[in-house]
Amino acid sequence: MEQHDIERLDMISAHLHALLHNEQPGSLDLAGEPEDEIRQVGEFINALTESLSVLTSAAHHLSLGDLDVPIGAKLPACHYLENLQETLRHMTWQAGQIAKGDFSQRVEFSGEFSHSFNWMVAQLEAYRQRILGQNRELERLAATDPLTGVYNRRYFMEFAAKEFLRSQRYSHVFCVIQMDIDHFKKINDTHGHTVGDEVLKAFTANCLEALRECDVLGRMGGEEFSIILPETEMAGTLIVAERFRQAIADLKLYVDDQIVHFTVSIGVTKLRQDDSGIEAVLRRADEALYLAKNGGRDKVFSVE
Ligand code: GH3
Ligand code: MG
Ligand code: MG
Repeated sequence: MEQHDIERLDMISAHLHALLHNEQPGSLDLAGEPEDEIRQVGEFINALTESLSVLTSAAHHLSLGDLDVPIGAKLPACHYLENLQETLRHMTWQAGQIAKGDFSQRVEFSGEFSHSFNWMVAQLEAYRQRILGQNRELERLAATDPLTGVYNRRYFMEFAAKEFLRSQRYSHVFCVIQMDIDHFKKINDTHGHTVGDEVLKAFTANCLEALRECDVLGRMGGEEFSIILPETEMAGTLIVAERFRQAIADLKLYVDDQIVHFTVSIGVTKLRQDDSGIEAVLRRADEALYLAKNGGRDKVFSVE
């Protein structure tokens, strides 16, 4: 081998050494005839160096999380890098979907990562379901009376105000029933507070049985209850009220060893077109209830 060729092979060796040790070798300049094998090896190594440089740069960008840089080089390893880039892009999109609340996202082909990712999403979904359930329970607690389970005053007033606006706007009708258990204080005094509580529960259970799904019963305080009956005329409401009064009068409540008997007074009114607000309707229902009390209790009275 000639001295010139030995020098060129030394250059190739030094170049490959630099490449393997992650140094940046310059371009090999191995002048010679076109069919000169050493020159051809040099050209191949130059092409390889260029490809490795592009691959290194792409891998570097990928390692920094920059997923938009094209991989570019034509080495077999690039194919895997492109797959990895595509997978990372897809998982980035999936994370965005999960952030928007799509918990059906799953990663399938990323080994242990798939397992952890899918477990995380399942856990997030479980947390969300738990929070939704707790929120529903909180809403229910905020809207209901703990003793009887019927709506509380706050919810009833909200519903009544909305029903007032809706009915006035569309010229619909609704009626209000106002009820107050008679001589309830005496029931407490005679049988005890616990029995009084049982009376309140029996009262609302009986009331709910007589109502339609769209009617709303609220405990306004103590032994006072109100009902809104949407889309119901006075005649129908009076029938409901009278049937309910009778049912309570006939009721014999067995608590411990005691039989408790009680009655209810009921006032009924209906929405008038000149009513200024729901308060005006409820005031009229109170007037009717007052008449029922003064009329001897265990009565239904109406004011139109
Ligand atoms: P009236 O026929 O005029 O309505 O007489 P009343 O005794 O029913 O009315 P009053 O307002 O004098 O008494 C209501 C009683 O209701 C007094 C109060 O202690 C009792 N009460 C209020 N809330 C509850 C409750 O949650 N449980 C029980 N057991 N009693 C209650
Ligand atoms: Mg009362
Ligand atoms: Mg009372």
